[in-house]
Amino acid sequence: MDLGIAGRRALVCASSKGLGLACAISLAREGVAVTMTARGAEALEAAAQQVREAAGATGATVIAVAGDITTPEGRALALAACPDPDILITNAGGPKPGDFREWSRDDWIAAVDANMLTPIELIKATVDGMMKRGFGRIVNITSGAVKAPIDILGLSNGARSGLTGFVAGLARKTVAHNVTINNLLPGPFETDRLLATAAAAARGTDKSVEQVLAARRAANPAGRFGQPGEFGDACAWLCSAQAGFVTGQNLLMDGGAYPGTF
Ligand code: NAP
Repeated sequence: MDLGIAGRRALVCASSKGLGLACAISLAREGVAVTMTARGAEALEAAAQQVREAAGATGATVIAVAGDITTPEGRALALAACPDPDILITNAGGPKPGDFREWSRDDWIAAVDANMLTPIELIKATVDGMMKRGFGRIVNITSGAVKAPIDILGLSNGARSGLTGFVAGLARKTVAHNVTINNLLPGPFETDRLLATAAAAARGTDKSVEQVLAARRAANPAGRFGQPGEFGDACAWLCSAQAGFVTGQNLLMDGGAYPGTF
């Protein structure tokens, strides 16, 4: 299926690896010009090269902009490189795991900054232009924790739920202009982030990280972790011309782990 977005411009945040990188690859394959961000410049440039290869014959350009997307300076750099994106994928590292008794006000502010206010600032900077041009697709990478909280990820459960509530309102105001805003909720996807949370879960127990991972794989109805490419392709579809009637949704990709009927 041709997604009808060749020639569009995308800003894909936090995309030197994992889910962000997968989204950049899937969009570039569709001929979308991609601007990628991450803090580590070297890994980002290597990732951009991978995305250029994915773009292949489409001729889509790929730009890498190093910076911390959770800071005003980082966002300004990203938006200077891609001032009028047609597609915005918001993403940043997830907050640290732990017990809420250990978290200070500063920890909460950092989580809210990264996983709620940063996407909102990026939406604020881009959504009016999208509406004027009559096309826009915004996808926020959030977490399955928004639907089913993960006990050690309370900072994520809280901050991302705030973003979800905000998006639910705004998404109904933009869709008449062919600008959709949706959230993609990853369950367990095989990325460095997943390994880090498994290591945190193993710490202080008699289990190895591999044992924790094996138990998590076995507990998932799919019997496996999700692959980043599956996530990237779902993101590209949400950004497609055909997806203009889908807005304000929370698409959970978790192999069926969430046990609810709806
Ligand atoms: P990952 O493999 O650790 O990759 C994170 C990416 O974000 C890297 O490219 C990293 O590069 C970049 N990044 C992190 N903080 C950044 C910042 N402040 N500014 C710019 N770039 C930044 O993580 P992932 O698994 O793809 O996860 C992506 C998001 O999905 C995270 O918020 C995570 O919590 C959430 N999530 C993931 C899973 C899962 O199973 N993988 C499940 C639920 C939710 P630099 O470090 O160089 O900046």
